Amino acid sequence: MARYTGPSCRLCRREGQKLFLKGERCYSGKCALEKRNYAPGQHGQGRKKISNYGLQLREKQKAKRFYGLQETQFKNYLVKAASKRGITGETLLVMLETRLDNTVFRMGFASSRKEARQLVCHGHFTVNGKKVDIPSYGVKPGDIIKVKEKSVSSPKFKEIKEMTISTPAWLSIDTDKLEGKIISLPDRSMIDTPVEEQLIVELYSK
Ligand code: SF4
Repeated sequence: MARYTGPSCRLCRREGQKLFLKGERCYSGKCALEKRNYAPGQHGQGRKKISNYGLQLREKQKAKRFYGLQETQFKNYLVKAASKRGITGETLLVMLETRLDNTVFRMGFASSRKEARQLVCHGHFTVNGKKVDIPSYGVKPGDIIKVKEKSVSSPKFKEIKEMTISTPAWLSIDTDKLEGKIISLPDRSMIDTPVEEQLIVELYSK
């Protein structure tokens, strides 16, 4: 299925929740959800009764859109998570959270996951000294992610050097060196993704 190229804010309005798809705008008063907090379309403001299946579907769509994945990619993650030990929903979230593009975003090197994905694809990062340009690359504890030497002088990364960035507890960053380290795998309490992962698992186990 082709990648969605329509307005990002429409996706947040559909889910009724901020998915932070547009960088700085999402944190400002210009956020579409602040102005029009109802679903898009002609019947967006109508009252709707939502079925159990509808709830499960919305949670899946929300997670998929939050991490910028397509249906097949998302399903593959779920199948992989189900084959591992532990709670499937949590394993799924950990796998999504430790994608390289998401990690770059969480480290503050990009203003959105979409931008992080583009920066990774353009080869601006190394993992343990080697260039990695695959957004889905799964990072592991101990990995060091660094902005490539050649990219350090670009205005984008110069800006970051002057910023104070707060990162989740499973990551540490050094803005002077433009590098970050994976301290451990995140547990559920460290992941602020606004989804009920159990509903997603239930949806796919039908
Ligand atoms: Fe979503 Fe960001 Fe648009 Fe707000 S500005 S609706 S959070 S994409």
